[in-house]
Amino acid sequence: MYRIRIHARGGQGAKTASRVLGSALFREGFEVQDAPRYGAERRGAPIFAYVRADRSRILERGTIERPDLVVVADETLIPVAAAGVLSGLTERTVLLIHSAEDPATWRNRLCLAATVVTLEPQLESAGELRFVGIRCAGAAARLLGTVSRAALTWAIREELTALGALGVAENLELALAAYDSFDHEDGCVQEAPEARPEAAGSARWIELPFEEAAVSAPDIHGAATSVQVRTGLWRTMRPVIDLERCHRCHWLCSTLCPDGAIPVLADGSPEIDYEHCKGCMICVAVCPTHAIGAIPEAQARRAEEDPG
Ligand code: SF4
Ligand code: SF4
Repeated sequence: MYRIRIHARGGQGAKTASRVLGSALFREGFEVQDAPRYGAERRGAPIFAYVRADRSRILERGTIERPDLVVVADETLIPVAAAGVLSGLTERTVLLIHSAEDPATWRNRLCLAATVVTLEPQLESAGELRFVGIRCAGAAARLLGTVSRAALTWAIREELTALGALGVAENLELALAAYDSFDHEDGCVQEAPEARPEAAGSARWIELPFEEAAVSAPDIHGAATSVQVRTGLWRTMRPVIDLERCHRCHWLCSTLCPDGAIPVLADGSPEIDYEHCKGCMICVAVCPTHAIGAIPEAQARRAEEDPG
């Protein structure tokens, strides 16, 4: 059985990638499960999707604990513990990261025994990040070695029909280019045998110490703690204000930001709090003078690290 986990941020196409991979494997004769798992939030929040594929009936259910292939569409998720990207990796797992850095750098950084391969980012302009998922799906299909180009093409046509002929053609071109670029890694992902319940052994008995009621059942009174959650890590696109074009009508952008991430300075200028801006792009849409633009987060971070 193949067990595949795809990690991305909302809006990057992880769900689409899982559907395309699932359909392509189905076309190749596999039994398939594919499902997304969302958090409580929206665009930019960490999500994952998973795919199981086997030649016989799949009895396993639930999320994948021991993946054969982990696909990371957004490398900024790797240090986010809650995203669980590295959870359950073994020396036989293949880790595919959408990153400009090479596999050796990632292996050293993460001290991993797993095989690491990287998919070079190509799409830098605003709006194109939604294609990351489909490129990852194309690359992942090639790494499996059991999905033909024809099956991948069929799956993309099948799953993305709603996008119309032009949308399908755009996605096909990107997915097939990624597929072709991994010819040297064709089939590097190995199927693992189905997990047998007896292999897990019996459950261990855990003694929980009895605590005083005040300790074991505390009331939770934690007002104003949301500020401690740095939701700025979720962003894939960064809103940027051009103060030259700004008319200081802050009752629009500041009021309509759903996260209260646009404080207003004493002179009436809006300022974006990047620690907490999730990149929903509502401010970009509502600004009447188009003073707020958007750039890919990765590009903004590179510019900060290397201002020259
Ligand atoms: S809505 Fe646009 S023009 Fe108005 S204050 Fe915000 S950034 Fe400036
Ligand atoms: S409205 Fe603008 S500042 Fe507020 S979270 Fe969305 S993108 Fe960030």
